[in-house]
Amino acid sequence: MAKTKVALIKCDEYNLKEVEKAINYAISLIGGFDRLRKKGKKVLLKPNILAGKEPEYAVTTHPVVFEATIKIFLENGFEVAAGESPPLEPLGIAAKKAGLLDVVEKYKIPFYEFKNPIKISNPDGKLIKSFNISEEILNFDIIVSLPKLKTHAQMYYTGAMKNLFGCITGLQKPHFHLRFPDRDDFANMIVDLNLLLKPSLGIMDGIVAMEGKGPQGGTPKKVGLIATSFDILALDLVCAELIGYKYIDIPIIKNALERKNFFISSPEEIEIVGEKIENLKPSHFEKVKITSEVHFLQNKVPKPIINFINNITVPKPHFKHKVCIKCGKCISICPANALQFKNKNKNKFVHIDYNKCIKCYCCDEICPVKAIELKIRPF
Ligand code: SF4
Ligand code: SF4
Repeated sequence: MAKTKVALIKCDEYNLKEVEKAINYAISLIGGFDRLRKKGKKVLLKPNILAGKEPEYAVTTHPVVFEATIKIFLENGFEVAAGESPPLEPLGIAAKKAGLLDVVEKYKIPFYEFKNPIKISNPDGKLIKSFNISEEILNFDIIVSLPKLKTHAQMYYTGAMKNLFGCITGLQKPHFHLRFPDRDDFANMIVDLNLLLKPSLGIMDGIVAMEGKGPQGGTPKKVGLIATSFDILALDLVCAELIGYKYIDIPIIKNALERKNFFISSPEEIEIVGEKIENLKPSHFEKVKITSEVHFLQNKVPKPIINFINNITVPKPHFKHKVCIKCGKCISICPANALQFKNKNKNKFVHIDYNKCIKCYCCDEICPVKAIELKIRPF
C-alpha cells in the first residue's frame, strides 16, 4: 500500500522567494496539486493567529509563509480565502499586529472572522456527534491548516490538527475546555473536529518555531523547516518527533492513531520525502514536560484520592503579580470562573481559586506578558 508522504524542506529565513520555493517543492514531493484540484477550487487557509503578537515572537503563522501560500494557490488557479477566530481579540486587530492583515489586503482575498455558528452533524465523532461551526467554513472545498511549530502547555505540542480548534467560534472555546477538562478527552474532541472538517493539506511554519512554554509564552527557536502533507496527522507526528517528542506522548496524535478507520494507525505508514529528519532536528529543543494524570486508577480508588494525587502531580497556574499588567485577559478566558481581581493594600491582583481550576492553562496561553507560571504545588 502506498505510504502517506510528509515533505520536509530546509528553509532558513522568511524570504518570500525562498519560502515560496520551499512550499512549492514540498507540495510537488507529496504529489502536486492534482489531488487538490479533484476536490474543487475554493480554498480556505487557516493560519494560527492565537493573539495579536508581532511575527518575531513566533506565536502566529509568519506572514511570509501565509503570503507564499496565498500566491501559490492563486497561481495554481484556486480561489483563496482565509479565516480564523482568535480567542479574545477581534480578528482585524490580532491579524494586523501579526502582519497577516496586510497580506490579506495586498492580495484582496476574503478574510473571515468565524462567527454565526450552525449545528453540523458529526456522525463519526467519538465524543462530539455535532459541532456548531461557522457557516462560512462550509462553503469551501479545501481547508489548509497553516500552523506554527510550537509547544503547548496543556497538549504538549500544537500543530496542524490543534490549529483547527480556531474554526470554533470565539466564545465556544472556553466552553469546550470546561466540558473536557481531561487532556485525553480534549484531544479526542480535537480529533472529532478534524473528522468533521476533513482538512486537505497542512503546511507547517517551522522556520522559527516556539520552544519552552508555548503556545504564547515560550521562546522563538530557529528550526529552519517547512513541512507539508495531505495528511495532517502524519504531518503532526513527524513534526512532533522532529522537535524531540515521542509521538505517542502527544494526546491528539495518540488518539487519532487509535481511530484506524479514519486515520493512519502508525508511523510505519508514513514516508518522509525531501530532507532527512535527522538533518533538521535541532540539537536542543525545550519541550513541555509530559505529566500523567492518574487515569489508570480510575474505578479502582475513590475519586477524592485521584483528585488529591492529580493536585500534587499536575502543574497549576501561579501568578507573578509584579509582572502582571492587569489586562484581565486571563479572567475573561477562564472557563471555570476560577480567576478574579482582588485588592490588597490598594493593590489589584489576580486571585485564583484552585478548587475551581480545571488546569486547562487557557490563562497561561493568553497572558501577553508571561505573568503566569505553571508549577506543582500540593494543596
Ligand atoms: S485558572 Fe487558568 S488553568 Fe485554571 S481553569 Fe482558569 S484558565 Fe484554566
Ligand atoms: S496574569 Fe497575564 S493575562 Fe492575567 S491579568 Fe495579568 S497580565 Fe493579564
